[in-house]
Amino acid sequence: MSEQEYEFQAEIRKLLNILSKSLYQHKEIFLRELISNAVDASKKIDFILLTDRDIRDADEELRIEIYFNPEEKTLTIRDYGVGMTKNELINDLGTIAGSGTEKFLKKLEESKDEEGKKIDLDIIGQFGIGFYSVFMVTKEAKVRTKSYANDEDAYEWTSDGTGKFKIQTIEKQKRGTDIILYLNDEDEDFLNEFRIENIVKKYSNFVPYPIYVYELEEGDSPETGKIKPKPEPEDTEEEAAEGEEESLKEERVPEPINETTPLWKKNKNDITEEDYKDFYHYISNRYDDYLDVINYKVDGRVRFRSILFIPSSPSQDMLQPETDYGLSLYSRSVLIMKYAKDLIPQWMRFVKGILESEDIPLNISRETIQTNREIMKMSNLIVKKFIRELNILAENDSEKFMEIWENFGQFIKEGIVTDIARKEKLKKLLRFRTSKTKDDELIGLDEYVERMKDNQEKIFYLVGEDLETLKMSPHLGYYEENDLEVILFDETIDNFLMMNLNHYEVEEKPSEGEEIEEGEEGKKKTKFIRFSPIDVAETEEKEEGKEDKEKEEEKKEEIPEKVKNFLEYIEKVLEDKIIKAKTSQRLYGNPCRLANPAEGPSSSQQRAMRYWTQTLAGQEFNIPKKIFEINPNHPTIKSLIQLYEQDAENKVLKPIILQLFENSLLSEGDLPNPSSMVPRINQIIEMLLTEGSNTEE
Ligand code: ADP
Repeated sequence: MSEQEYEFQAEIRKLLNILSKSLYQHKEIFLRELISNAVDASKKIDFILLTDRDIRDADEELRIEIYFNPEEKTLTIRDYGVGMTKNELINDLGTIAGSGTEKFLKKLEESKDEEGKKIDLDIIGQFGIGFYSVFMVTKEAKVRTKSYANDEDAYEWTSDGTGKFKIQTIEKQKRGTDIILYLNDEDEDFLNEFRIENIVKKYSNFVPYPIYVYELEEGDSPETGKIKPKPEPEDTEEEAAEGEEESLKEERVPEPINETTPLWKKNKNDITEEDYKDFYHYISNRYDDYLDVINYKVDGRVRFRSILFIPSSPSQDMLQPETDYGLSLYSRSVLIMKYAKDLIPQWMRFVKGILESEDIPLNISRETIQTNREIMKMSNLIVKKFIRELNILAENDSEKFMEIWENFGQFIKEGIVTDIARKEKLKKLLRFRTSKTKDDELIGLDEYVERMKDNQEKIFYLVGEDLETLKMSPHLGYYEENDLEVILFDETIDNFLMMNLNHYEVEEKPSEGEEIEEGEEGKKKTKFIRFSPIDVAETEEKEEGKEDKEKEEEKKEEIPEKVKNFLEYIEKVLEDKIIKAKTSQRLYGNPCRLANPAEGPSSSQQRAMRYWTQTLAGQEFNIPKKIFEINPNHPTIKSLIQLYEQDAENKVLKPIILQLFENSLLSEGDLPNPSSMVPRINQIIEMLLTEGSNTEE
């Protein structure tokens, strides 16, 4: 029997050091990694057997066995999977480059930059650590393996993880792999049935193969050894007398310690919350509590079973659109695809779940899945159900719905923008703050429409940078004065949302005595209510106040000469900074505002543009030109007009107009460098004080 020695490709010891230091609290996950490898190797056999039964031990039951030997301090994980050839042993276990361990360490380095973020189970879950994690608990590891290919020998790979490994040929009875770990003294606590069972339940409860645990007798290895019989249960004397024979026999029949019936095949009523939670942890590789679960079974023209979870919060990768997402797709209990993207639209990428259907061919590929009609039907049903469930939740359990909204509302907004077919349905789920909501209260469009004034024809909204600034916006004056509610949007995505939101469709309540038009009987009448931004210049809003158009014309005529002169002066001072200056009836309690011309790009379009040019492309952004509206009835403006009338050369005029203009820019979120105002404010204060002391003299 030849023995050969090899060098590891990279400085593995160093990497392992980092690994064990950062993961010492979660050492136990080495077992998850080994079970996960065993499962992968078994799944490969399942797949091969679909087309080829002429392989080694074709009839062997696929299972995972864990042996522990407290005397020898060994822990062995055995599978009956594909096994490894000599080359595979050298390449797959000798190369850290490209392995799960390397990827994990890279991630670890990256996440360290993010202000000493601690390694939590969520990160460990999202990036498998791989085989090398065994060296956190072991001084020596042996891999004894025999490939499924009939003509391959069996081999043993040995290493202490310091830089070298040895390979020799061995005799091994069955196909598959044994991983034998010689545990460090301080890690002996893993040699305990309860401990092993707990770890398996925590991380690997739902793997699709049974997992058995055996204790070995002193001096025995799993290859040759005897399994220690389970200790007799400590029965009461009575029971022991009657059924001793019986119970011993029962004890010898091993029971898998994991759940082997897939959850989606179980009766809904038999599934506990704990089951869902464990299953969620298993499929998502996250260890938080999910917010909601949807168990959906369809038995019609298409047939499938599915379970969808909404996690407690978005993970970092969900925020990136290019991330892997989708449901795990199963057919006849075989995993066809881990992330079937075609089952859900991209905006639903925060949802974790599975779908199993017998109607899906086992050999379906990424390419054919896109055009598979069954898949499309299933996808439609699933998304419909998902949106329906959210609507039901919004009605029946608003607290939970709000939690979902707070965490995933931006995904729903993304859906409204990108998912044309479901846009209308998704609008109903939209939640927002308004000029009338208090504190953290959020409302939806139905509630907004319900609260609309009798003669109100539009849904008013304002988009801005943050809620505090929005609440103080000069645009709100008129609406507050007239008791009209205004939606306040304060997220970047809201700009994109409002560029895509023209109207909201509501069922019209038939008013009393209303005549029903021909052909309209029995049909539900729907009404389209348009969205209207409130930062549009006054006279450009043609539909608003139609009835007193003439009156407005008159008003224009009425503008006194001195105000006209002042407007001209403003235009001179602000020159190329504004489109024009005009008076406005829209202003209450505020001296001025900057309004958008109705025919130009909306504020949302401007902000979206800025997001692209400035935030994404890092380019300079030009402050958009707007219409400067003044409130001729405001004391500040009144005084300014008077001052200008008395002395057009008055030194206070120019700085004050500039300041009022920049104040307006600031409330639009359009002033890039607010501190540049300070010298001017100081100048104004000084003028005010010296003026004041002059009068007193
Ligand atoms: P990963 O599983 O992320 O690829 P690992 O370090 O855990 O990384 O494993 C490296 C490779 O070794 C696997 O991809 C697989 O090819 C092989 N391997 C590990 N364990 C087994 C096993 N029990 N049976 C067959 N092959 C295995």
